[in-house]
Amino acid sequence: MNKIKREAIFQRLQQANPNPTTELVYNSTFELLIAVILSAQATDKGVNKATAKLFPVANTPETIAALGEDGLKPYIKTIGLFNSKGKNIIATCQRLIEQHQSQVPAQREALEALPGVGRKTANVILNTAFHQPTMAVDTHIFRVANRTGLAPGKTVLAVEKALLKHIPKAYLLDAHHWLILLGRYTCVARNPRCGECLIADLCDFKEKTA
Ligand code: SF4
Repeated sequence: MNKIKREAIFQRLQQANPNPTTELVYNSTFELLIAVILSAQATDKGVNKATAKLFPVANTPETIAALGEDGLKPYIKTIGLFNSKGKNIIATCQRLIEQHQSQVPAQREALEALPGVGRKTANVILNTAFHQPTMAVDTHIFRVANRTGLAPGKTVLAVEKALLKHIPKAYLLDAHHWLILLGRYTCVARNPRCGECLIADLCDFKEKTA
């Protein structure tokens, strides 16, 4: 895909949704961190349902750590992998208290050192909370980048690097949200809705649906 097409794609995505953001509900960087840890292999809707009950009771490293794994579980048990996520969240809260004055760090290395936080989660936090132009490649973005021809790659890291290289700078900060939303609602896994896709004429996918 050439530069002109890429520019046109993001221009259109921006026009349709000038201020995109995550669908996770949060009121602080710490709440966002907890929500993102819970969202691995789970829907944002399911996470929001759980955190709507958890956050009014505990929404700081101290209060969640005080719940302990057993106290946290009832709030998150509807979410997949809740046992390991609960364990990681408690360990992350303890580390934030001991090493970061109860603040979520803004550095990739420090974020990735937190239990349950990998490269993708760190990218979401750096982008959404700290406004850094990172690219968190999830299953939706991986599919969209390959199908459209925007940034083809065999691995998540290859797609992340290709997107960072090819997306025009002016769109980089919001690109992550636009691509997730495109993949979640239009360029869906099984039957992409090419007929109602606003970038259909710019997309290189050869097997477009009607
Ligand atoms: S035209 Fe189809 S394949 Fe291309 S981005 Fe849109 S929905 Fe996906």
